[in-house]
Amino acid sequence: MNRNIAIDGPSGAGKSTLAKKVAKQFGYIYLDTGAMYRAFGLYCIENGVDFSAADSENQKKLEDLTENFALDVVYENSNQQVYVNGRNVTSLIRTPEVSIAASKVAVVPKVRLKLVEIQRQIAEKSDVVMDGRDIGSYVLPNAAVKVFLTASVEIRAKRRFDELREKGNSEVTYEEVLKDMKFRDANDSSRAFAPLKQAEDAVLLDTSEMTEDESEQALINIIKSKTEM
Ligand code: C5P
Repeated sequence: MNRNIAIDGPSGAGKSTLAKKVAKQFGYIYLDTGAMYRAFGLYCIENGVDFSAADSENQKKLEDLTENFALDVVYENSNQQVYVNGRNVTSLIRTPEVSIAASKVAVVPKVRLKLVEIQRQIAEKSDVVMDGRDIGSYVLPNAAVKVFLTASVEIRAKRRFDELREKGNSEVTYEEVLKDMKFRDANDSSRAFAPLKQAEDAVLLDTSEMTEDESEQALINIIKSKTEM
């Protein structure tokens, strides 16, 4: 029986934190699909794709790079690790530069098709809580539970800013984080192929006015109501 859970929403909505928690609670695997786009974004940066120049040469280079890009998602002590051509890149993909690159490679259908295939293979083998932008609307249209998790862009930027500060990044400003978030929202929502959007049968969960604990409880309630767990 399909017991997959799809959690979609814009950047900084808290998808990964909450998805990880509910996966643990219900004994599911957690798959962070953004990490896959990030891994390919990093691979492109390292192989000389210039994301500031949207010319055809860069576009061709990027598409060619999908051919030799082998991605493995493995779980070490229940933590997702992402390997590119045998190298663990998990600790390298959270920089602002890689965030922008991920958002740019994510508009390319050839990239999406390759990563979606891997995502579907994982969901076939295990019960999975998968988070991303197009999981309920495209990757797993038959998921048992679909949630669209969001919050206002200002609140998402504030949460991300606080998180970066906590991690010791004292240079970044709130305005920069807000600008980056607006850019990614626009890029993710406007692409032609599998854009960020709420699936028709997804439950909307807006956490703008909620604490993390309240958001987690609200998500658990939705999952229970849909699956009788
Ligand atoms: O979720 P995260 O912010 O790590 O994702 C990085 C980027 O990857 C997003 O900005 C988005 O452009 C892209 N992405 C996507 N589809 C997904 C997951 C992520 O397009 N399912």
